[in-house]
Amino acid sequence: MISLLRALFSRTMPVPAPTTDEWAAALDLPVFAGFPAVDRRHLLLLAQELLAGKRFSPVAGADPGGLDIAAIVTQAALPILHLGTRWYRGWNEVVLYPGEFAHEGDETDEFGIVHRVRHVRSGEAWEGGPLVLSLDSVRMSGHREGYNVVIHEFAHKLDMNSGSVNGFPPLHADMRREAWSTAFATAYADLRASLARPQGMEDSEIDPYAAESPAEFFAVMSEYFFEWPELVFATYPAVYAQLCQFYRQDTLRRLSSFPVQPIGAIE
Ligand SMILES: [Zn+2]
Repeated sequence: MISLLRALFSRTMPVPAPTTDEWAAALDLPVFAGFPAVDRRHLLLLAQELLAGKRFSPVAGADPGGLDIAAIVTQAALPILHLGTRWYRGWNEVVLYPGEFAHEGDETDEFGIVHRVRHVRSGEAWEGGPLVLSLDSVRMSGHREGYNVVIHEFAHKLDMNSGSVNGFPPLHADMRREAWSTAFATAYADLRASLARPQGMEDSEIDPYAAESPAEFFAVMSEYFFEWPELVFATYPAVYAQLCQFYRQDTLRRLSSFPVQPIGAIE
């Protein structure tokens, strides 16, 4: 907290505007494969609207290039392609660190004792406040490898639109709350149970961080939904179906002819 505030007050220059080539390169990332031209134009317009509407603050020596900025806003536009930028209202700043950063704060344990903790993070989303990203982690995102810090943190922002961070974003009128909670609660309980078994950590392809809380489960499932939908569909098909309805996209169908390359895959 203190380090973030100090960093905010020592902010430096504005970020560079992406060139036409940098916009094109950002939209060439494997996570955008299979989009028709009309959707690519729509993504670009949404991304440019996000760039105009948010303040980007490099801190701690971060030096983003135009391609970094284009990569952030195009990937942030991906989840809201059929939702609109109003889903990212109510906050206005994206803080950029050069690499992973330390988060310091108070956490209450199961006995009610408050501890001062320090975690290393690649991103953070504050309720009503900034979204924070590590540029190193941004550069690892979008490659269809099952990792995407941009989509993860912006999914937290979508979740926060309900007024709490609990993995239950506001649903569309044609969706059923009961179907959402049954799908997510069942899958979350299954993941926690499977990780608790011997060898569970080694056997699970899903990042164990998803088992931290329902909010993290939603953010990690959203990450996979766009980066590696095959995994969500095969593991938790009911969650996949709910995410299709929520994001109004069928990522599996769009990406099916483009191979996934999960991190750690053996060639
Ligand atoms: Zn998270």
